[in-house]
Amino acid sequence: VSYDYADETVIVTGGSSGIGRAVAERFGAAGATVVVADVREEPKRADAPTHEAIREAGGQATFVETDVSDPGEIALVVEAAREFGGVDVMVNNAGIYRGAPLLDADPETFDRVYGVNARGAFAGMQAAARDMIDRGEPGSIVNTASISSELAQPGHAMYDASKGAVMMLTRVAALELAEHGVRVNAVAPGPVDTGIGSGDTGESETEVPSIDKSAPMGRAAPAEVAGPYLFLASEDASYVTGHLLYADGGYAVF
Ligand code: NAD
Repeated sequence: VSYDYADETVIVTGGSSGIGRAVAERFGAAGATVVVADVREEPKRADAPTHEAIREAGGQATFVETDVSDPGEIALVVEAAREFGGVDVMVNNAGIYRGAPLLDADPETFDRVYGVNARGAFAGMQAAARDMIDRGEPGSIVNTASISSELAQPGHAMYDASKGAVMMLTRVAALELAEHGVRVNAVAPGPVDTGIGSGDTGESETEVPSIDKSAPMGRAAPAEVAGPYLFLASEDASYVTGHLLYADGGYAVF
Protein backbone atom coordinates (compact mmCIF):
# COMPACT_ATOMS: atom_id res chain seq x y z
CA VAL A 1 0.00 0.00 0.00
CA SER A 2 1.35 3.45 -0.76
CA TYR A 3 0.29 6.45 1.25
CA ASP A 4 0.62 10.11 0.40
CA TYR A 5 2.02 12.22 3.22
CA ALA A 6 3.26 15.08 1.02
CA ASP A 7 2.92 18.43 2.85
CA GLU A 8 2.69 16.67 6.19
CA THR A 9 5.17 16.92 9.03
CA VAL A 10 5.77 13.79 11.08
CA ILE A 11 7.76 13.63 14.31
CA VAL A 12 9.17 10.21 15.20
CA THR A 13 10.73 9.92 18.64
CA GLY A 14 13.31 7.20 18.93
CA GLY A 15 13.61 7.44 15.15
CA SER A 16 17.35 6.81 14.93
CA SER A 17 17.17 3.03 15.26
CA GLY A 18 14.95 0.00 15.17
CA ILE A 19 11.20 0.35 14.76
CA GLY A 20 11.30 4.16 14.86
CA ARG A 21 13.80 4.22 12.03
CA ALA A 22 11.65 1.91 9.89
CA VAL A 23 8.61 4.09 10.62
CA ALA A 24 10.50 7.31 9.83
CA GLU A 25 11.78 5.88 6.55
CA ARG A 26 8.29 4.77 5.50
CA PHE A 27 6.85 8.22 6.24
CA GLY A 28 9.78 9.80 4.41
CA ALA A 29 9.21 7.60 1.37
CA ALA A 30 5.54 8.62 1.45
CA GLY A 31 6.51 12.28 1.05
CA ALA A 32 6.37 13.51 4.63
CA THR A 33 8.84 15.92 6.18
CA VAL A 34 10.21 13.77 8.99
CA VAL A 35 11.58 15.15 12.24
CA VAL A 36 13.66 12.44 13.89
CA ALA A 37 13.87 13.08 17.65
CA ASP A 38 16.25 10.86 19.54
CA VAL A 39 18.86 10.93 22.31
CA ARG A 40 21.41 9.73 19.79
CA GLU A 41 21.80 10.53 16.14
CA GLU A 42 23.93 7.51 15.28
CA PRO A 43 21.90 4.44 14.38
CA LYS A 44 22.78 1.21 16.13
CA ARG A 45 22.61 -0.97 13.05
CA ALA A 46 22.96 1.22 9.99
CA ASP A 47 25.66 3.40 8.46
CA ALA A 48 23.87 6.68 8.02
CA PRO A 49 21.62 8.49 10.49
CA THR A 50 17.93 8.15 9.65
CA HIS A 51 17.46 11.72 8.45
CA GLU A 52 20.40 11.36 6.07
CA ALA A 53 19.10 8.04 4.72
CA ILE A 54 15.70 9.64 4.09
CA ARG A 55 17.29 12.54 2.27
CA GLU A 56 19.49 10.24 0.22
CA ALA A 57 16.33 8.45 -0.88
CA GLY A 58 14.91 11.77 -2.08
CA GLY A 59 12.84 12.66 0.99
CA GLN A 60 12.91 15.45 3.52
CA ALA A 61 14.06 14.96 7.08
CA THR A 62 15.87 16.57 9.95
CA PHE A 63 17.25 15.46 13.33
CA VAL A 64 16.64 17.02 16.74
CA GLU A 65 18.50 15.70 19.76
CA THR A 66 15.86 15.00 22.38
CA ASP A 67 15.42 13.09 25.60
CA VAL A 68 11.70 12.33 25.75
CA SER A 69 11.84 11.87 29.50
CA ASP A 70 12.27 15.65 29.71
CA PRO A 71 8.91 17.28 28.89
CA GLY A 72 10.69 20.56 28.11
CA GLU A 73 12.76 18.90 25.40
CA ILE A 74 9.82 17.23 23.70
CA ALA A 75 7.97 20.56 23.68
CA LEU A 76 10.96 22.06 21.86
CA VAL A 77 10.77 19.36 19.19
CA VAL A 78 7.13 20.18 18.56
CA GLU A 79 8.08 23.84 18.38
CA ALA A 80 10.83 22.99 15.89
CA ALA A 81 8.23 21.29 13.70
CA ARG A 82 6.47 24.65 13.31
CA GLU A 83 9.27 25.57 10.95
CA PHE A 84 7.74 22.97 8.61
CA GLY A 85 4.16 24.08 9.18
CA GLY A 86 3.53 22.31 12.49
CA VAL A 87 3.20 18.69 13.52
CA ASP A 88 0.57 16.71 11.62
CA VAL A 89 1.54 13.27 12.91
CA MET A 90 3.23 12.59 16.24
CA VAL A 91 4.78 9.16 16.67
CA ASN A 92 5.75 8.58 20.31
CA ASN A 93 8.02 5.60 19.89
CA ALA A 94 11.17 6.14 21.99
CA GLY A 95 11.55 3.37 24.51
CA ILE A 96 14.01 1.41 26.59
CA TYR A 97 13.94 -2.06 28.07
CA ARG A 98 15.20 -3.03 31.49
CA GLY A 99 14.40 -6.45 32.85
CA ALA A 100 14.46 -7.74 36.41
CA PRO A 101 12.25 -9.93 38.54
CA LEU A 102 10.00 -7.90 40.81
CA LEU A 103 11.91 -9.10 43.86
CA ASP A 104 15.18 -7.67 42.50
CA ALA A 105 13.99 -4.57 40.66
CA ASP A 106 15.06 -1.23 42.07
CA PRO A 107 12.93 1.92 42.17
CA GLU A 108 15.44 4.03 40.23
CA THR A 109 15.31 1.66 37.27
CA PHE A 110 11.53 1.61 37.48
CA ASP A 111 11.48 5.42 37.33
CA ARG A 112 13.83 5.46 34.35
CA VAL A 113 11.84 2.92 32.33
CA TYR A 114 8.59 4.62 33.23
CA GLY A 115 10.08 8.06 32.62
CA VAL A 116 11.10 7.26 29.06
CA ASN A 117 8.38 4.85 27.96
CA ALA A 118 5.26 6.14 29.70
CA ARG A 119 5.98 9.72 30.70
CA GLY A 120 7.80 10.28 27.40
CA ALA A 121 4.68 9.26 25.47
CA PHE A 122 2.53 11.34 27.84
CA ALA A 123 4.64 14.45 27.28
CA GLY A 124 4.79 13.87 23.53
CA MET A 125 1.03 13.48 23.26
CA GLN A 126 0.45 16.56 25.38
CA ALA A 127 2.86 18.78 23.46
CA ALA A 128 1.62 17.63 20.05
CA ALA A 129 -2.07 17.88 20.94
CA ARG A 130 -1.67 21.34 22.41
CA ASP A 131 0.11 22.48 19.28
CA MET A 132 -2.51 20.97 16.95
CA ILE A 133 -5.34 22.58 18.93
CA ASP A 134 -3.56 25.97 19.10
CA ARG A 135 -3.09 25.96 15.34
CA GLY A 136 -6.61 24.68 14.71
CA GLU A 137 -5.15 21.84 12.67
CA PRO A 138 -5.98 18.53 14.28
CA GLY A 139 -3.73 15.69 13.30
CA SER A 140 -3.02 12.21 14.48
CA ILE A 141 -0.97 10.67 17.26
CA VAL A 142 0.40 7.12 17.08
CA ASN A 143 2.17 5.65 20.10
CA THR A 144 4.35 2.57 20.25
CA ALA A 145 2.76 0.28 22.78
CA SER A 146 3.69 -3.40 22.81
CA ILE A 147 2.28 -6.87 23.23
CA SER A 148 3.61 -6.15 26.74
CA SER A 149 0.80 -3.62 27.16
CA GLU A 150 -1.53 -6.57 27.78
CA LEU A 151 0.62 -9.68 27.98
CA ALA A 152 2.42 -10.18 31.29
CA GLN A 153 5.75 -12.00 31.24
CA PRO A 154 8.02 -12.91 34.17
CA GLY A 155 10.93 -10.51 34.59
CA HIS A 156 9.18 -7.76 32.67
CA ALA A 157 7.47 -5.94 35.55
CA MET A 158 8.94 -2.49 34.89
CA TYR A 159 8.67 -2.65 31.13
CA ASP A 160 5.20 -4.20 31.04
CA ALA A 161 3.91 -1.61 33.52
CA SER A 162 5.25 1.20 31.35
CA LYS A 163 3.69 -0.27 28.22
CA GLY A 164 0.38 -0.87 29.97
CA ALA A 165 0.48 2.82 30.77
CA VAL A 166 1.09 3.70 27.12
CA MET A 167 -2.05 1.75 26.18
CA MET A 168 -4.20 3.53 28.77
CA LEU A 169 -2.74 6.95 27.94
CA THR A 170 -3.66 6.24 24.31
CA ARG A 171 -7.23 5.37 25.25
CA VAL A 172 -7.83 8.30 27.59
CA ALA A 173 -6.23 10.78 25.20
CA ALA A 174 -8.42 9.43 22.38
CA LEU A 175 -11.54 10.14 24.42
CA GLU A 176 -10.41 13.59 25.54
CA LEU A 177 -9.10 14.75 22.19
CA ALA A 178 -11.96 13.43 20.04
CA GLU A 179 -13.84 16.71 20.35
CA HIS A 180 -10.80 18.48 18.92
CA GLY A 181 -10.59 16.11 15.98
CA VAL A 182 -7.28 14.63 17.11
CA ARG A 183 -7.11 10.84 16.80
CA VAL A 184 -4.87 8.82 19.10
CA ASN A 185 -3.92 5.20 18.46
CA ALA A 186 -1.10 2.79 19.22
CA VAL A 187 0.76 0.02 17.47
CA ALA A 188 1.60 -3.03 19.56
CA PRO A 189 4.61 -4.81 18.07
CA GLY A 190 5.55 -8.30 19.12
CA PRO A 191 9.22 -9.26 19.50
CA VAL A 192 11.16 -7.37 16.83
CA ASP A 193 14.85 -7.76 16.12
CA THR A 194 16.20 -4.32 17.03
CA GLY A 195 18.91 -2.96 19.25
CA ILE A 196 16.64 -2.42 22.24
CA GLY A 197 18.56 -3.19 25.39
CA SER A 198 21.89 -2.68 23.67
CA GLY A 199 23.50 0.68 24.26
CA ASP A 200 20.30 2.63 23.74
CA THR A 201 21.02 5.63 25.88
CA GLY A 202 24.57 5.05 26.95
CA GLU A 203 23.23 4.04 30.35
CA SER A 204 24.58 0.94 31.99
CA GLU A 205 23.08 -2.17 30.58
CA THR A 206 21.04 -4.73 32.35
CA GLU A 207 19.46 -7.73 30.82
CA VAL A 208 18.99 -7.91 27.09
CA PRO A 209 15.75 -9.59 26.12
CA SER A 210 16.10 -12.43 23.69
CA ILE A 211 14.28 -11.67 20.49
CA ASP A 212 12.62 -14.90 19.64
CA LYS A 213 10.97 -15.61 16.37
CA SER A 214 8.37 -17.91 17.82
CA ALA A 215 5.44 -15.86 16.53
CA PRO A 216 3.21 -18.04 14.35
CA MET A 217 4.39 -15.99 11.37
CA GLY A 218 7.98 -16.46 12.51
CA ARG A 219 9.61 -13.18 11.49
CA ALA A 220 10.92 -10.21 13.44
CA ALA A 221 11.94 -7.38 11.09
CA PRO A 222 11.28 -3.73 12.08
CA ALA A 223 10.09 -2.92 8.55
CA GLU A 224 7.14 -5.24 8.95
CA VAL A 225 5.65 -3.30 11.84
CA ALA A 226 5.97 0.13 10.18
CA GLY A 227 2.94 -0.07 7.89
CA PRO A 228 0.35 0.08 10.67
CA TYR A 229 1.68 3.49 11.76
CA LEU A 230 1.05 4.92 8.29
CA PHE A 231 -2.40 3.37 8.20
CA LEU A 232 -3.42 4.67 11.64
CA ALA A 233 -2.22 8.20 10.81
CA SER A 234 -3.97 8.20 7.43
CA GLU A 235 -7.41 9.26 6.24
CA ASP A 236 -8.22 5.58 5.80
CA ALA A 237 -8.32 5.42 9.60
CA SER A 238 -10.39 8.60 9.99
CA TYR A 239 -12.90 6.86 12.30
CA VAL A 240 -10.32 4.84 14.24
CA THR A 241 -9.26 6.20 17.62
CA GLY A 242 -8.21 4.74 20.96
CA HIS A 243 -7.19 1.56 19.16
CA LEU A 244 -4.29 -0.78 19.86
CA LEU A 245 -3.22 -2.40 16.59
CA TYR A 246 -1.21 -5.57 17.07
CA ALA A 247 1.66 -6.08 14.64
CA ASP A 248 3.09 -9.26 16.09
CA GLY A 249 2.71 -12.04 13.54
CA GLY A 250 0.18 -13.68 15.85
CA TYR A 251 2.52 -13.86 18.86
CA ALA A 252 -0.06 -12.69 21.38
CA VAL A 253 -3.40 -13.71 19.95
CA PHE A 254 -5.89 -13.70 22.80
P1 NAD B 1 15.77 0.51 19.64
O1 NAD B 1 16.60 0.54 20.85
O2 NAD B 1 16.30 -0.10 18.39
O3 NAD B 1 15.24 1.97 19.30
C1 NAD B 1 14.81 2.84 20.32
C2 NAD B 1 15.25 4.23 19.96
O4 NAD B 1 14.79 5.12 21.02
C3 NAD B 1 16.77 4.38 19.88
O5 NAD B 1 17.12 5.10 18.73
C4 NAD B 1 17.12 5.13 21.16
O6 NAD B 1 18.27 5.94 21.03
C5 NAD B 1 15.87 5.96 21.37
N1 NAD B 1 15.71 6.40 22.76
C6 NAD B 1 15.93 5.69 23.89
N2 NAD B 1 15.69 6.45 24.97
C7 NAD B 1 15.32 7.67 24.51
C8 NAD B 1 14.96 8.89 25.13
N3 NAD B 1 14.95 9.01 26.47
N4 NAD B 1 14.63 9.94 24.36
C9 NAD B 1 14.66 9.84 23.00
N5 NAD B 1 15.01 8.73 22.36
C10 NAD B 1 15.34 7.65 23.10
O7 NAD B 1 14.45 -0.27 20.09
P2 NAD B 1 13.10 -0.61 19.33
O8 NAD B 1 12.87 -2.06 19.55
O9 NAD B 1 13.06 -0.08 17.97
O10 NAD B 1 12.07 0.17 20.25
C11 NAD B 1 11.22 1.18 19.77
C12 NAD B 1 9.91 1.10 20.52
O11 NAD B 1 9.28 -0.14 20.24
C13 NAD B 1 10.05 1.14 22.03
O12 NAD B 1 9.01 1.93 22.58
C14 NAD B 1 9.89 -0.29 22.44
O13 NAD B 1 9.41 -0.41 23.76
C15 NAD B 1 8.87 -0.75 21.44
N6 NAD B 1 8.77 -2.19 21.23
C16 NAD B 1 9.85 -2.92 20.86
C17 NAD B 1 9.71 -4.29 20.69
C18 NAD B 1 10.87 -5.14 20.29
O14 NAD B 1 10.79 -6.36 20.42
N7 NAD B 1 11.96 -4.60 19.78
C19 NAD B 1 8.46 -4.89 20.87
C20 NAD B 1 7.37 -4.10 21.21
C21 NAD B 1 7.54 -2.75 21.40
